[in-house]
Amino acid sequence: MNPHPQFPSFFHVDHPLIAHKLTLMREESCTSLSFRILLREISALIGYEISRNLRLTTRRIHTPLCDMDAPVLADEAPCIVPVLRAGLAMAEGLQDLIPAASVGHIGVYRDHDTKMPVEYLVRLPQNVGQDFFVVDPMLATGNSLIHACDILMRHGVAAEKIRVMSLVAAPEGVRTFAARHPGIRIYCAALDEKLNENAYIVPGLGDAGDRMYGTM
Ligand code: URA
Repeated sequence: MNPHPQFPSFFHVDHPLIAHKLTLMREESCTSLSFRILLREISALIGYEISRNLRLTTRRIHTPLCDMDAPVLADEAPCIVPVLRAGLAMAEGLQDLIPAASVGHIGVYRDHDTKMPVEYLVRLPQNVGQDFFVVDPMLATGNSLIHACDILMRHGVAAEKIRVMSLVAAPEGVRTFAARHPGIRIYCAALDEKLNENAYIVPGLGDAGDRMYGTM
């Protein structure tokens, strides 16, 4: 997968199934249940790319026919970190793919007036050597994801261990995020047109948390 020509740390996960499912999610008529299911399915598909570089070693096993040195993951399972609350369904999709993953939580909401992130919950594993997959469906201004990655780095996680997984991004947010964390790769299903005056992504899909949990 090639980086975006304008944003070297941004990777568009380009797959027909992802594109189709995202269209279903964008439609206003999509129910909360379908929205959650689709987000979980897309997350597993993006997760396939995000986990591509996990290191392998071998383990001696016995098949019914013979012994063999078979590939197994070399390192501690990654930690999935949903940015609450919209990141939760994405985290479930990644957990389907990597059941051994631990899950940290970062609770950040966007202040209505300042549009800046306000932190209300942080729960992370003690270990910091594994990969960390930070998940938030909407990379809008980029501020929440910047804040989440700042928290991880303050906790002792190295930037090269962190990857961000998102569903829809705005160019403004990708630019802001990449300026602050140029070494952290972003994997995303779509790069949309712009942010509107309320910092919503256009065309986007509205408020992901509200649509997911029926709190519109
Ligand atoms: N958060 C959302 O849920 N949607 C947007 O469009 C922007 C931020």
